[in-house]
Amino acid sequence: MDRQVALPRGQRGWLAWQDAFDLAARKRVFEGRLPVSVFPRFAELLAAVEGDIDARLAFAADGVGRVRVEGRVEGAVVLVCQRCLGRYRQAVESRVGLLLVSDEALIPHLPGAFEHEVIGDRIRPLDLLEDELMMSLPLVPVHPDPADCEETARRLLAAAQDELME
Ligand SMILES: [Zn+2]
Repeated sequence: MDRQVALPRGQRGWLAWQDAFDLAARKRVFEGRLPVSVFPRFAELLAAVEGDIDARLAFAADGVGRVRVEGRVEGAVVLVCQRCLGRYRQAVESRVGLLLVSDEALIPHLPGAFEHEVIGDRIRPLDLLEDELMMSLPLVPVHPDPADCEETARRLLAAAQDELME
């Protein structure tokens, strides 16, 4: 399966392995709308692989050998409500704030607002988004409005009754 086919030409940089320090030196900004299907690990956690994620990542050098990555992910995904077992759309939104270092020694001992990640030679911008998306999912997905759970129950009851009539 060639996942690159899923992205239009202008968006393929998300999937390319690139030197994070080079991206920072060039102040690269990635921005676009990505189908959920390009995030295989994230898609596994969903009830349906559908919908889009709006994403933005900006790379910058922080002057002391680290790469600062800031951005956001935002979209809506399909989850299974743990109260009624009905599917529903869940909005997901998260800010990205990361410091990428090539060596653990460059991680400051002081806790900061930015998460730190030790990286190898190359990174895929999409992977940074995918981690953030996975963390943005609710621990226990439930319909935001309990009335929707009752609606699911009514539908299930109606379907069961239809079956009995046949
Ligand atoms: Zn529900």
